[in-house]
Amino acid sequence: MGIVDEDIVRVREVTDIVALITQYTQLKRVGQRWSGLCPFHSEKTPSFSVNASEGFYYCFGCKEHGDAITFVRNMEHLDFVGAVERLAGTAGIVLRYTDQNEGAGRKRHKELQAHLERAVDWYHERLKTSPDAAAARAYLRSRGFTGEQVARYQVGWAPDDWDQLAKFLKISNKDLEAVGLGFVNRRQKQQDFFRARVLFPIFDEQGRPIGFGGRKLPDAEGPKYQNSRDNELYNKSKALYGINWAKADMVQHDEVVICEGYTDVIGFGRAGVDRAVATCGTALTEEHVRLLRKFTRRLVLAYDADEAGQSASERVYAWEKAYEVQVSVVQLQPGEDPDEMARENPEALRAAVADARPFLAFRVERVLGAADLTTPEGRARAAEHAVEVVAEHPDPIVRDQYVMEVADECRVAPDLLRTRLTEVLARPKEAAPVRRGASGQATRQQDEPLVRGIEPLHGAGGAGGWDDDAPPPWETGGSGEHDAGEYDDGTYGGPSGSAAVSRRPAAVPPLREGSQTEALRLALARPEEVATYLDESLFLHPTARAAFEALANAATVTDAIAAAGPEAGELLTRLSFEGTASDAVDVVARLAEEVGRQTLVELEAEARGADDPLAYGEVMRWLKLTLEELRSHRPEVEKLNQLVDWLIERRRESGDGQVH
Ligand code: ZN
Repeated sequence: MGIVDEDIVRVREVTDIVALITQYTQLKRVGQRWSGLCPFHSEKTPSFSVNASEGFYYCFGCKEHGDAITFVRNMEHLDFVGAVERLAGTAGIVLRYTDQNEGAGRKRHKELQAHLERAVDWYHERLKTSPDAAAARAYLRSRGFTGEQVARYQVGWAPDDWDQLAKFLKISNKDLEAVGLGFVNRRQKQQDFFRARVLFPIFDEQGRPIGFGGRKLPDAEGPKYQNSRDNELYNKSKALYGINWAKADMVQHDEVVICEGYTDVIGFGRAGVDRAVATCGTALTEEHVRLLRKFTRRLVLAYDADEAGQSASERVYAWEKAYEVQVSVVQLQPGEDPDEMARENPEALRAAVADARPFLAFRVERVLGAADLTTPEGRARAAEHAVEVVAEHPDPIVRDQYVMEVADECRVAPDLLRTRLTEVLARPKEAAPVRRGASGQATRQQDEPLVRGIEPLHGAGGAGGWDDDAPPPWETGGSGEHDAGEYDDGTYGGPSGSAAVSRRPAAVPPLREGSQTEALRLALARPEEVATYLDESLFLHPTARAAFEALANAATVTDAIAAAGPEAGELLTRLSFEGTASDAVDVVARLAEEVGRQTLVELEAEARGADDPLAYGEVMRWLKLTLEELRSHRPEVEKLNQLVDWLIERRRESGDGQVH
C-alpha cells in the first residue's frame, strides 16, 4: 500500500525544512541559506547547509543530502512511507493511499501506457531515419547490432535537444512527468527527460512499455547510463529488461539468465540464449525473484566475476529457501562481459551458461582458486577460508557435502574442518554492512560478503528517495563512481593531444573560479535569464559541463544534484548556496569570450595543418574582431546571441572542440 503521489508532493511542499531540521540542530541564517552543525556526523564547525526555498540540505563534511523526507528517513531510521506519514502528521495532512479507487487507477494506467507506446515508436523511428541519429546508428553497428535486432528490441534515439518528444506527444505536464518522459523546467516549459542517448525501451512481462534505459554515445559527456526514474508505471526494483522477450524461452528451458545491462541481454540473444533479463540500474531484489519465480525456479547470475562473488550470500540462501529457487553463477573471467563474448565467441558464452555452478560451489571454488595449494600452509589457509564461506549456507547437509570436498582438495581431515565449522557457526554474527551509515564509515574485509550484487527489498516507497538512485552496479567499480578519464575530452590536456596521456585523471586541472562557475551560479539562481544562451558545449571544463548538463536536464536543483554524479553534484550544491548578483549579459559575454579564445586557438591549429590555410582567414578575422569588441564594451544582445550561436554550432560540429 503506497501513498498517493500528489499527497507526497504536498507533504514535501508544506514541510518547513528549516523548522524540521532545527529540531535536531541549531541553524543560523547566512545570506540565502541556513547553516549549522551537521546532525549526521560530529563536527565543531558548521558544514551543514539548508536551502529553504528549494527544500534540500547538504553536508560539506559527510556529504549527507536530500529533502525533508530523506532527512526524516535517515534521522529517524524510517522507511519512505513512515517518513511521509510522520511529516504529514506534523503538517496536519490526511494522506490517501493507493489501493483506493482501483478502477480509476487502471484507466489512468492505460492512458499513461499509451503515451509511452507513442514515445517508443517515435524514438525508434528517429533512430532509423533521422540524420541526427547517424552517430547513434554508427555506434550500434560498431557494437554488432543488425537492423533486425534494432527492430526487435525497438532501440531508439533521443535527439540532442530540449523538447522534441514533448512537442510531439502534446500531453499534460502531469502525464509527461508521470511516465518519466519529461518534466516542466524552471522556465515553466516542458522538457524531455532523455537527451542525446540511445534508448532501450523496457517492457513489463506482458510486453507493455514501462520505461527506458538510456546509454550515451561513447564520446559524449555525462554518466554512461540513465534510466527512467521510478514513476507511476516504472519501479526499478520490479523492472527487468528483456522479460517480455525472455519468458517463453525461460519456461521452455526452465532457467533464467540474469545479467547487468541491456546490451548483455541482447548479446545473449545474439548467442542464441533468449532467456536473459537484466536488472535496470539496481541490484537484484526480492521483488525480481518473486516475479521470475512465476516462470522458473532456476536463476543463473551472469554478473561480472567479482560482482557475483561478492553477492550477499545470506540473501541468496534466504531466497532459495523462501521461494524454492536455486541460484547458480556463470563463471565469467574478470573483464569478460556477455555482450563482448557474444560477438567474439558465442560458443563459449553458451558453454559458460551450461556450466553455471551452484552459488556455494562458485564461492568455494573462488576461494580455492585464489589460494596456493602447493604448500601445506597455503592449503591450511585455503581450508580455513573455504569453511567460512561454507558456514554461510543454512542447510547442515549441504554444508557437510562441501566440507568433504574442501577437505579433499586441501588434504585436511574432514573432522578437523567440521570442528572448525562448528566454531565458526557459534560465533556471533557481525552486523551486515550498510550502504549509507550515518557515520559513512562502512568498512569491509577482504572476504566479507558485500551488499552489492544482490540487495534486499527496498522500503515501500522507492519513489523520491535519493538513496534509491544509486548508479547501476556495473558502474560502481571501486569507490569512484565515474572514471575521471571518461570526461577528459582533450580540451584540457594543454598541448598534449595524446590520448594515452589525457586519459589520466591528472590531466584535468581543477576547475578554477571564473566565467564557467559564474555562469553556473546564474543558471542556478536565475535560469530564465540565461536559458536561451547557455549550452553545455560552452563549458570547457568537464566538471562544469557535467554540472550544467545535469542542471539543464532536471526539473529542480535537487534533482540536478542527484543526477550530476559526485564531483559535479558537489559543485552545483556549493554554487547554489553561493548565489550571484551578476548581470546575465555580462556573464554570458565573459563565458563567450573564454570559449571564443579557445576556439581561435583551435582554428589556428587547424589552419596550419590545412591544405588551404587561407580559407580560415575570414572566419578567424571575424572571430578576433568580435572578441575584441566583447572585451571593450558591453555587447549588444543581438551580437552576443550571434556569437554564442556560432560557438555552440562550431563546438558541437567539432566534437566539442577537440583539436585534431
Ligand atoms: Zn555531516
